[in-house]
Amino acid sequence: MMRAFAMLKIGETGWIDAPKPVAGAYDAILEPLALAPCTSDIHTVYEGALGERCNLILGHEAVGRVVEVGSEVKDFKPGDRVIVPAITPNWRTVEIQNGVPASHSEGALTGWKFSNTKDGVFADYFHVNDADMNLALLPDGMSLEEAAMLPDMATTGIHGAELADIQIGSTVVVIGIGPVGLMAVCGARLRGAARILAVGSRKKCAELALEYGATEIINYKNGDIVKQVLTATHGLGADSVIISGGPSEVLAQAVDMTKPGGTIGNVNYYGEGDILPVPRLGWACGMGHKSIHGGLTPGGRARMERMVALVQTGRINPGKMVTHTFNGLDKLPEALEMMHHKSPDVIKPVVLV
Ligand code: NDP
Ligand code: ZN
Repeated sequence: MMRAFAMLKIGETGWIDAPKPVAGAYDAILEPLALAPCTSDIHTVYEGALGERCNLILGHEAVGRVVEVGSEVKDFKPGDRVIVPAITPNWRTVEIQNGVPASHSEGALTGWKFSNTKDGVFADYFHVNDADMNLALLPDGMSLEEAAMLPDMATTGIHGAELADIQIGSTVVVIGIGPVGLMAVCGARLRGAARILAVGSRKKCAELALEYGATEIINYKNGDIVKQVLTATHGLGADSVIISGGPSEVLAQAVDMTKPGGTIGNVNYYGEGDILPVPRLGWACGMGHKSIHGGLTPGGRARMERMVALVQTGRINPGKMVTHTFNGLDKLPEALEMMHHKSPDVIKPVVLV
Protein backbone atom coordinates (compact mmCIF):
# COMPACT_ATOMS: atom_id res chain seq x y z
CA MET A 1 0.00 0.00 0.00
CA MET A 2 1.01 3.66 -0.41
CA ARG A 3 -0.08 7.06 0.83
CA ALA A 4 -1.95 9.46 -1.43
CA PHE A 5 -3.78 12.78 -1.29
CA ALA A 6 -7.23 12.42 -2.81
CA MET A 7 -10.58 13.96 -3.62
CA LEU A 8 -12.87 12.07 -1.20
CA LYS A 9 -15.99 13.54 -2.77
CA ILE A 10 -17.03 16.90 -4.26
CA GLY A 11 -15.83 19.60 -1.87
CA GLU A 12 -13.67 17.31 0.30
CA THR A 13 -10.04 16.19 0.16
CA GLY A 14 -7.94 13.98 2.44
CA TRP A 15 -5.18 11.37 2.76
CA ILE A 16 -5.96 7.79 1.80
CA ASP A 17 -4.13 4.47 1.64
CA ALA A 18 -4.22 3.07 -1.87
CA PRO A 19 -2.70 0.03 -3.56
CA LYS A 20 0.65 0.67 -5.26
CA PRO A 21 -0.02 0.85 -9.03
CA VAL A 22 1.11 -1.94 -11.35
CA ALA A 23 2.81 -1.38 -14.74
CA GLY A 24 1.47 -3.01 -17.91
CA ALA A 25 3.91 -3.99 -20.67
CA TYR A 26 4.21 -0.44 -22.11
CA ASP A 27 3.82 1.48 -18.84
CA ALA A 28 6.00 2.85 -16.05
CA ILE A 29 5.68 3.35 -12.31
CA LEU A 30 7.21 6.57 -11.00
CA GLU A 31 7.88 8.22 -7.68
CA PRO A 32 7.40 11.99 -7.57
CA LEU A 33 10.31 14.45 -7.30
CA ALA A 34 8.26 17.63 -7.74
CA LEU A 35 4.50 18.14 -7.80
CA ALA A 36 2.33 21.16 -8.48
CA PRO A 37 -1.33 21.71 -7.67
CA CYS A 38 -3.41 23.25 -10.46
CA THR A 39 -6.42 25.52 -10.71
CA SER A 40 -8.01 22.60 -12.60
CA ASP A 41 -7.76 20.49 -9.39
CA ILE A 42 -9.78 23.26 -7.73
CA HIS A 43 -12.48 23.12 -10.45
CA THR A 44 -12.58 19.33 -10.11
CA VAL A 45 -12.77 19.20 -6.30
CA TYR A 46 -14.71 22.29 -5.32
CA GLU A 47 -16.94 22.89 -8.34
CA GLY A 48 -17.45 19.21 -9.14
CA ALA A 49 -16.70 20.21 -12.73
CA LEU A 50 -16.09 16.62 -13.88
CA GLY A 51 -18.88 15.14 -11.78
CA GLU A 52 -18.60 13.09 -8.60
CA ARG A 53 -15.30 11.30 -7.91
CA CYS A 54 -14.75 9.20 -4.75
CA ASN A 55 -11.22 8.65 -3.40
CA LEU A 56 -9.68 9.81 -6.68
CA ILE A 57 -5.99 10.62 -6.16
CA LEU A 58 -5.44 14.25 -7.17
CA GLY A 59 -2.71 15.94 -9.19
CA HIS A 60 -1.55 15.91 -12.81
CA GLU A 61 1.61 18.03 -12.77
CA ALA A 62 4.74 16.03 -11.93
CA VAL A 63 8.42 15.52 -12.40
CA GLY A 64 9.38 12.04 -11.26
CA ARG A 65 11.88 9.21 -11.08
CA VAL A 66 11.17 5.94 -12.87
CA VAL A 67 11.08 3.01 -10.44
CA GLU A 68 9.74 0.28 -12.70
CA VAL A 69 9.03 -0.21 -16.41
CA GLY A 70 6.99 -2.78 -18.34
CA SER A 71 8.62 -5.39 -20.58
CA GLU A 72 8.03 -3.41 -23.82
CA VAL A 73 9.38 -0.02 -22.65
CA LYS A 74 12.51 0.75 -24.68
CA ASP A 75 13.68 4.29 -23.93
CA PHE A 76 13.33 4.60 -20.14
CA LYS A 77 14.73 2.60 -17.23
CA PRO A 78 14.52 2.69 -13.43
CA GLY A 79 16.38 5.69 -12.06
CA ASP A 80 15.65 8.02 -15.02
CA ARG A 81 14.40 11.46 -14.01
CA VAL A 82 11.52 12.48 -16.24
CA ILE A 83 8.94 15.17 -16.95
CA VAL A 84 5.41 13.76 -17.00
CA PRO A 85 2.87 15.57 -19.17
CA ALA A 86 -0.51 16.27 -17.60
CA ILE A 87 -2.05 14.81 -20.75
CA THR A 88 -0.99 11.23 -21.52
CA PRO A 89 -3.04 10.08 -24.53
CA ASN A 90 -3.48 6.60 -25.84
CA TRP A 91 -1.44 7.03 -29.03
CA ARG A 92 -2.69 3.81 -30.68
CA THR A 93 -6.13 4.76 -31.94
CA VAL A 94 -7.71 4.98 -35.37
CA GLU A 95 -9.13 8.37 -34.39
CA ILE A 96 -5.59 9.83 -34.38
CA GLN A 97 -5.19 8.51 -37.95
CA ASN A 98 -8.45 10.31 -38.75
CA GLY A 99 -6.95 13.61 -37.59
CA VAL A 100 -8.55 13.84 -34.16
CA PRO A 101 -6.16 15.59 -31.71
CA ALA A 102 -4.48 12.99 -29.51
CA SER A 103 -5.89 14.72 -26.41
CA HIS A 104 -9.27 13.30 -27.52
CA SER A 105 -8.06 10.05 -29.07
CA GLU A 106 -10.65 7.89 -27.27
CA GLY A 107 -13.38 10.56 -26.98
CA ALA A 108 -13.52 14.15 -25.67
CA LEU A 109 -10.81 14.92 -23.09
CA THR A 110 -9.70 11.26 -22.82
CA GLY A 111 -6.02 12.21 -22.99
CA TRP A 112 -6.54 13.81 -19.60
CA LYS A 113 -6.27 10.73 -17.43
CA PHE A 114 -4.50 11.83 -14.21
CA SER A 115 -6.95 12.96 -11.54
CA ASN A 116 -9.81 12.57 -14.00
CA THR A 117 -10.34 9.02 -15.28
CA LYS A 118 -7.49 7.44 -13.31
CA ASP A 119 -5.57 8.22 -10.15
CA GLY A 120 -3.35 11.28 -10.22
CA VAL A 121 0.23 11.93 -9.19
CA PHE A 122 -0.16 13.13 -5.57
CA ALA A 123 1.03 9.83 -4.11
CA ASP A 124 4.14 7.85 -3.15
CA TYR A 125 3.92 6.21 -6.59
CA PHE A 126 1.94 6.77 -9.77
CA HIS A 127 1.35 4.96 -13.06
CA VAL A 128 2.12 6.36 -16.54
CA ASN A 129 0.54 4.72 -19.59
CA ASP A 130 2.73 4.20 -22.67
CA ALA A 131 5.97 5.46 -21.12
CA ASP A 132 7.93 5.70 -24.40
CA MET A 133 5.28 7.97 -25.92
CA ASN A 134 4.43 9.99 -22.80
CA LEU A 135 7.63 10.69 -20.84
CA ALA A 136 10.45 13.12 -21.53
CA LEU A 137 13.89 13.06 -19.89
CA LEU A 138 14.63 15.84 -17.43
CA PRO A 139 17.81 17.45 -18.75
CA ASP A 140 20.80 17.92 -16.44
CA GLY A 141 20.89 21.42 -15.05
CA MET A 142 17.16 22.11 -15.23
CA SER A 143 15.72 22.79 -11.78
CA LEU A 144 12.81 20.69 -10.53
CA GLU A 145 10.75 23.85 -9.98
CA GLU A 146 11.25 24.99 -13.57
CA ALA A 147 10.59 21.50 -14.92
CA ALA A 148 7.35 21.31 -12.91
CA MET A 149 6.00 24.23 -14.96
CA LEU A 150 6.22 22.22 -18.20
CA PRO A 151 3.66 19.34 -17.79
CA ASP A 152 0.72 21.75 -17.85
CA MET A 153 1.39 25.48 -17.41
CA ALA A 154 3.82 26.02 -20.28
CA THR A 155 2.16 23.69 -22.76
CA THR A 156 -1.34 24.98 -21.97
CA GLY A 157 -0.53 28.69 -22.13
CA ILE A 158 1.39 28.19 -25.35
CA HIS A 159 -1.51 26.17 -26.72
CA GLY A 160 -3.70 29.22 -26.11
CA ALA A 161 -1.44 31.13 -28.49
CA GLU A 162 -1.58 28.27 -31.02
CA LEU A 163 -5.39 28.16 -30.86
CA ALA A 164 -5.65 31.94 -31.25
CA ASP A 165 -3.87 31.77 -34.63
CA ILE A 166 -1.61 34.72 -33.84
CA GLN A 167 -0.12 36.55 -36.84
CA ILE A 168 3.16 38.48 -36.84
CA GLY A 169 2.66 42.09 -35.82
CA SER A 170 -0.90 41.55 -34.59
CA THR A 171 -2.72 42.83 -31.51
CA VAL A 172 -3.48 40.14 -28.95
CA VAL A 173 -5.48 40.21 -25.72
CA VAL A 174 -4.69 37.62 -23.04
CA ILE A 175 -7.60 37.37 -20.58
CA GLY A 176 -6.25 35.99 -17.31
CA ILE A 177 -2.61 36.13 -16.27
CA GLY A 178 -2.28 33.41 -13.66
CA PRO A 179 0.40 30.86 -14.57
CA VAL A 180 -1.49 29.65 -17.65
CA GLY A 181 -2.06 33.19 -18.93
CA LEU A 182 1.53 34.18 -18.22
CA MET A 183 2.66 31.31 -20.43
CA ALA A 184 0.08 32.45 -23.00
CA VAL A 185 1.78 35.85 -23.01
CA CYS A 186 5.05 34.05 -23.75
CA GLY A 187 3.32 32.07 -26.49
CA ALA A 188 1.88 35.24 -28.05
CA ARG A 189 5.31 36.81 -28.06
CA LEU A 190 6.89 33.73 -29.61
CA ARG A 191 4.22 33.79 -32.32
CA GLY A 192 5.15 37.35 -33.18
CA ALA A 193 2.42 39.52 -31.66
CA ALA A 194 3.23 43.24 -31.65
CA ARG A 195 0.85 44.39 -28.92
CA ILE A 196 -0.08 42.09 -26.05
CA LEU A 197 -2.79 43.44 -23.73
CA ALA A 198 -2.83 41.31 -20.58
CA VAL A 199 -5.93 41.24 -18.37
CA GLY A 200 -5.60 40.62 -14.63
CA SER A 201 -5.76 42.45 -11.33
CA ARG A 202 -2.94 41.16 -9.16
CA LYS A 203 0.24 43.26 -9.21
CA LYS A 204 2.63 40.32 -9.00
CA CYS A 205 1.09 38.67 -12.08
CA ALA A 206 0.97 41.98 -13.96
CA GLU A 207 4.66 42.62 -13.31
CA LEU A 208 5.65 39.19 -14.59
CA ALA A 209 3.33 39.59 -17.61
CA LEU A 210 5.19 42.77 -18.55
CA GLU A 211 8.52 41.01 -18.08
CA TYR A 212 7.32 38.12 -20.29
CA GLY A 213 6.31 40.46 -23.12
CA ALA A 214 2.93 42.06 -22.40
CA THR A 215 2.88 45.64 -23.66
CA GLU A 216 -0.10 46.83 -21.60
CA ILE A 217 -2.04 45.69 -18.54
CA ILE A 218 -5.81 45.90 -18.31
CA ASN A 219 -7.35 45.56 -14.86
CA TYR A 220 -10.82 43.96 -15.05
CA LYS A 221 -11.62 45.51 -11.69
CA ASN A 222 -11.38 48.98 -13.27
CA GLY A 223 -14.44 48.48 -15.52
CA ASP A 224 -15.70 46.55 -18.54
CA ILE A 225 -12.72 44.94 -20.28
CA VAL A 226 -14.41 45.14 -23.69
CA LYS A 227 -14.59 48.93 -23.39
CA GLN A 228 -11.02 49.08 -22.14
CA VAL A 229 -9.75 47.02 -25.08
CA LEU A 230 -11.78 49.02 -27.62
CA THR A 231 -10.49 52.28 -26.17
CA ALA A 232 -6.90 51.02 -26.30
CA THR A 233 -7.33 49.91 -29.94
CA HIS A 234 -9.22 53.00 -31.22
CA GLY A 235 -12.43 51.00 -31.52
CA LEU A 236 -10.91 48.27 -33.70
CA GLY A 237 -10.57 45.42 -31.20
CA ALA A 238 -8.04 42.61 -31.15
CA ASP A 239 -6.87 40.32 -33.94
CA SER A 240 -6.62 37.42 -31.49
CA VAL A 241 -7.82 36.83 -27.96
CA ILE A 242 -6.52 34.11 -25.66
CA ILE A 243 -8.82 33.17 -22.79
CA SER A 244 -6.76 31.78 -19.94
CA GLY A 245 -8.79 32.67 -16.87
CA GLY A 246 -11.95 34.26 -15.54
CA PRO A 247 -15.59 33.20 -15.15
CA SER A 248 -17.77 32.05 -18.08
CA GLU A 249 -18.73 35.67 -18.93
CA VAL A 250 -15.26 36.18 -20.40
CA LEU A 251 -16.17 34.15 -23.49
CA ALA A 252 -18.82 36.71 -24.50
CA GLN A 253 -16.40 39.52 -23.72
CA ALA A 254 -13.77 37.87 -25.90
CA VAL A 255 -16.21 37.67 -28.82
CA ASP A 256 -17.13 41.33 -28.37
CA MET A 257 -13.51 42.51 -28.36
CA THR A 258 -12.36 40.41 -31.35
CA LYS A 259 -12.23 42.02 -34.80
CA PRO A 260 -14.26 40.48 -37.62
CA GLY A 261 -12.10 37.68 -38.99
CA GLY A 262 -10.26 37.34 -35.70
CA THR A 263 -9.70 34.24 -33.61
CA ILE A 264 -10.31 33.35 -29.98
CA GLY A 265 -8.15 30.66 -28.42
CA ASN A 266 -9.69 29.32 -25.24
CA VAL A 267 -7.79 27.19 -22.72
CA ASN A 268 -9.95 28.27 -19.78
CA TYR A 269 -11.74 25.43 -17.98
CA TYR A 270 -15.36 26.47 -17.42
CA GLY A 271 -16.31 24.59 -14.29
CA GLU A 272 -19.96 25.61 -13.84
CA GLY A 273 -23.21 26.07 -15.76
CA ASP A 274 -24.73 24.24 -18.74
CA ILE A 275 -24.57 26.91 -21.46
CA LEU A 276 -21.80 29.29 -22.52
CA PRO A 277 -23.48 32.31 -24.15
CA VAL A 278 -22.14 33.91 -27.34
CA PRO A 279 -23.30 37.51 -27.91
CA ARG A 280 -25.46 37.74 -31.04
CA LEU A 281 -24.40 41.23 -32.13
CA GLY A 282 -20.80 40.73 -31.00
CA TRP A 283 -20.72 37.72 -33.31
CA ALA A 284 -22.28 39.86 -36.05
CA CYS A 285 -25.51 37.81 -35.97
CA GLY A 286 -23.40 34.69 -36.55
CA MET A 287 -21.72 36.15 -39.65
CA GLY A 288 -18.65 37.91 -38.24
CA HIS A 289 -16.02 35.36 -39.31
CA LYS A 290 -14.92 35.24 -35.70
CA SER A 291 -13.58 31.79 -34.85
CA ILE A 292 -13.67 30.27 -31.38
CA HIS A 293 -11.11 27.51 -30.84
CA GLY A 294 -11.09 25.78 -27.46
CA GLY A 295 -8.61 23.09 -26.57
CA LEU A 296 -7.18 20.79 -23.98
CA THR A 297 -3.42 21.11 -24.12
CA PRO A 298 -1.52 18.59 -26.24
CA GLY A 299 0.42 16.09 -24.14
CA GLY A 300 2.88 13.33 -24.82
CA ARG A 301 6.63 13.05 -25.15
CA ALA A 302 7.34 15.20 -28.22
CA ARG A 303 5.32 18.07 -26.76
CA MET A 304 7.30 17.90 -23.50
CA GLU A 305 10.60 17.72 -25.40
CA ARG A 306 9.59 20.90 -27.24
CA MET A 307 8.81 22.62 -23.94
CA VAL A 308 12.23 21.53 -22.65
CA ALA A 309 13.85 22.97 -25.80
CA LEU A 310 12.11 26.33 -25.22
CA VAL A 311 13.56 26.51 -21.70
CA GLN A 312 17.03 25.37 -22.76
CA THR A 313 17.27 28.03 -25.45
CA GLY A 314 15.98 30.73 -23.10
CA ARG A 315 12.82 31.33 -25.15
CA ILE A 316 10.69 30.89 -22.04
CA ASN A 317 11.59 31.19 -18.39
CA PRO A 318 8.70 29.54 -16.53
CA GLY A 319 10.60 29.05 -13.25
CA LYS A 320 9.89 32.72 -12.47
CA MET A 321 6.24 31.80 -11.88
CA VAL A 322 7.12 29.60 -8.89
CA THR A 323 6.39 31.87 -5.94
CA HIS A 324 6.27 29.20 -3.22
CA THR A 325 8.28 26.00 -2.69
CA PHE A 326 7.29 23.37 -0.12
CA ASN A 327 9.24 20.31 1.01
CA GLY A 328 7.61 16.92 1.47
CA LEU A 329 4.43 15.20 0.33
CA ASP A 330 2.81 16.27 3.63
CA LYS A 331 2.65 19.83 2.30
CA LEU A 332 0.32 18.97 -0.59
CA PRO A 333 -2.88 20.06 1.23
CA GLU A 334 -1.31 23.42 2.05
CA ALA A 335 -0.16 23.91 -1.55
CA LEU A 336 -3.59 22.94 -2.93
CA GLU A 337 -5.28 25.36 -0.55
CA MET A 338 -2.95 28.05 -1.87
CA MET A 339 -4.39 27.48 -5.36
CA HIS A 340 -7.91 27.55 -3.92
CA HIS A 341 -7.65 30.92 -2.19
CA LYS A 342 -5.00 32.73 -4.20
CA SER A 343 -3.49 35.50 -2.13
CA PRO A 344 -1.94 38.42 -4.04
CA ASP A 345 1.57 36.99 -3.76
CA VAL A 346 0.77 33.51 -5.17
CA ILE A 347 1.36 32.60 -8.78
CA LYS A 348 2.28 28.89 -8.52
CA PRO A 349 3.43 26.69 -5.63
CA VAL A 350 5.60 23.60 -6.10
CA VAL A 351 6.05 20.71 -3.64
CA LEU A 352 9.48 19.04 -3.72
CA VAL A 353 9.35 15.44 -2.55
P1 NDP B 1 -5.45 31.51 -12.05
O1 NDP B 1 -6.65 31.46 -11.15
O2 NDP B 1 -4.11 31.54 -11.43
O3 NDP B 1 -5.57 32.78 -12.99
C1 NDP B 1 -6.81 33.26 -13.46
C2 NDP B 1 -6.62 34.63 -14.05
O4 NDP B 1 -7.88 35.12 -14.49
C3 NDP B 1 -6.05 35.65 -13.09
O5 NDP B 1 -5.15 36.49 -13.76
C4 NDP B 1 -7.28 36.41 -12.68
O6 NDP B 1 -6.99 37.75 -12.26
C5 NDP B 1 -8.05 36.42 -13.98
N1 NDP B 1 -9.47 36.73 -13.79
C6 NDP B 1 -10.28 36.36 -12.78
N2 NDP B 1 -11.51 36.87 -12.95
C7 NDP B 1 -11.49 37.57 -14.10
C8 NDP B 1 -12.46 38.33 -14.80
N3 NDP B 1 -13.72 38.49 -14.35
N4 NDP B 1 -12.09 38.91 -15.96
C9 NDP B 1 -10.83 38.77 -16.44
N5 NDP B 1 -9.86 38.07 -15.80
C10 NDP B 1 -10.19 37.47 -14.64
O7 NDP B 1 -5.60 30.26 -13.03
P2 NDP B 1 -4.52 29.42 -13.85
O8 NDP B 1 -3.64 30.33 -14.60
O9 NDP B 1 -3.90 28.42 -12.95
O10 NDP B 1 -5.49 28.62 -14.84
C11 NDP B 1 -6.30 29.31 -15.77
C12 NDP B 1 -7.38 28.43 -16.35
O11 NDP B 1 -6.81 27.44 -17.21
C13 NDP B 1 -8.15 27.64 -15.29
O12 NDP B 1 -9.53 27.64 -15.64
C14 NDP B 1 -7.58 26.26 -15.42
O13 NDP B 1 -8.45 25.27 -14.93
C15 NDP B 1 -7.38 26.18 -16.90
N6 NDP B 1 -6.49 25.13 -17.38
C16 NDP B 1 -6.76 24.60 -18.62
C17 NDP B 1 -5.96 23.63 -19.17
C18 NDP B 1 -6.18 23.14 -20.56
O14 NDP B 1 -5.54 22.16 -20.97
N7 NDP B 1 -7.03 23.75 -21.37
C19 NDP B 1 -4.83 23.08 -18.41
C20 NDP B 1 -4.57 23.78 -17.16
C21 NDP B 1 -5.39 24.74 -16.68
P3 NDP B 1 -6.42 38.15 -10.80
O15 NDP B 1 -6.20 36.87 -10.04
O16 NDP B 1 -5.17 38.89 -11.07
O17 NDP B 1 -7.48 38.97 -10.18
ZN1 ZN C 1 -2.92 21.51 -14.32
